[in-house]
Amino acid sequence: AVVYLNGERVDYADARVSVEDRGFQFGDGLYEVVRVYGGRFFYLNRHLKRLQKGAEEIYMELDFGLDRLRDVCKKAVVESGFKDASVYIQVTRGVAPRQHAFPEKSSCTWVVIVRQAKPQPDEFYENGVKVITVPDERWTRCNIKTVQLIANCIAKEKAKRAGAYEAVFHRGGIVTEGSSSNLFIVKDRKLFTHPANNLILHGITRSVVLEIAEKLGFDVVEEAFSLDRLFDADEAFVTGTMTEVMPIVKVDGKMIGDGVPGEMTRDIMREFRKLTETVDE
Ligand code: PMP
Repeated sequence: AVVYLNGERVDYADARVSVEDRGFQFGDGLYEVVRVYGGRFFYLNRHLKRLQKGAEEIYMELDFGLDRLRDVCKKAVVESGFKDASVYIQVTRGVAPRQHAFPEKSSCTWVVIVRQAKPQPDEFYENGVKVITVPDERWTRCNIKTVQLIANCIAKEKAKRAGAYEAVFHRGGIVTEGSSSNLFIVKDRKLFTHPANNLILHGITRSVVLEIAEKLGFDVVEEAFSLDRLFDADEAFVTGTMTEVMPIVKVDGKMIGDGVPGEMTRDIMREFRKLTETVDE
């Protein structure tokens, strides 16, 4: 892996942060994961914009500058030599003696880690995956991509123990999103997904899928829907930077549609694949 810590290239073994980093002590930080295909960044600017918005939400100034972060990301990918890579970005409020209120003076800790992307197995995309549903036990500011991911981690662990690919959250019976993905369903040739409000992360892949849906002339309804609607869906899929567009064929052991990836899902997957071969921004 290629690691940049506060703008400087460091050896992996030397990439250390303080025990009094607020990211470590309070989860007081944000992150992004960006995908690189064939040496091309896939919507890097959308990720950076989301990071900036998240920083504003938590009163954190990105004191190193977004342009510098962008440059470091690009440089790190080139230096890695990886054509297909994941770029992990983490920013925290920095190091200060432990107290809850924000330090008067601290500078951000910021890290960029580039790894070779290991895509999911082809058969997941070909045959679809199983998911389970779990209560959404997170706070109500899920639009902020904070590093406080314990509720997401517990949900993913439950999925793993159930032999499922993903855990889908519901808040009082209303489906929100996956533990690390957004969820779409198809019913009567219409596409449904939770509105981009405070209860979900506004996924970059979600936004790309909405653009694809528009291009394909699909009707899209950004409205909250119940668990019943999920079980009753004709098709379902989850989206994410590393997940891409992943068809779902079973929810809590119950078959979705015909138990194979749906037609509209496959149309969207095909268009998404095309974008990964061209987008460079
Ligand atoms: N929701 C959650 C909770 C996530 O963690 C992620 C992935 N980080 C997503 C949705 C998908 O977002 P994106 O498409 O930007 O990767």
